[in-house]
Amino acid sequence: MKNLTNIITLLRDKNFRITPQRIAIIKYLLKTDVHPNAEEIYQVIQKDFPMISMATVYKTLDFLKNMGILHKVGTSNGKNRFEANIEKHVNMICTKCGKIEDVYEQIVLSQLENEIIKKSNYHIVSRRIEFYGYCKNCKLKL
Ligand SMILES: [Zn+2]
Ligand SMILES: [Zn+2]
Repeated sequence: MKNLTNIITLLRDKNFRITPQRIAIIKYLLKTDVHPNAEEIYQVIQKDFPMISMATVYKTLDFLKNMGILHKVGTSNGKNRFEANIEKHVNMICTKCGKIEDVYEQIVLSQLENEIIKKSNYHIVSRRIEFYGYCKNCKLKL
């Protein structure tokens, strides 16, 4: 599991400028499980850093994504959403309200991965498993 100190070291090694705004973005993404999009991240960070620009948010997200710290996740409305959660899990995506929830199923997912490796002969570096449907609340309003 990547933590803030590891990430900062990694960024320093790559000569990425580490500003309090950028740290705030990383911290937020490490602790949230809502899988926010860039605008939502901007809204949150702006509360503490009113001067932050959308461009900084995009640049930071891009950099973190290229470094493998962040992952883009699927969405139901086409807007890029992100997570820093690198643990094996399934993203449950509601196609009605757009919310994304994590479901952990370590044993089954590890078995699945082993089978996939056997069949494909790949060395897996990341994974993204997503199910689409109606969440608990939206299901009731069908
Ligand atoms: Zn829903
Ligand atoms: Zn997730």
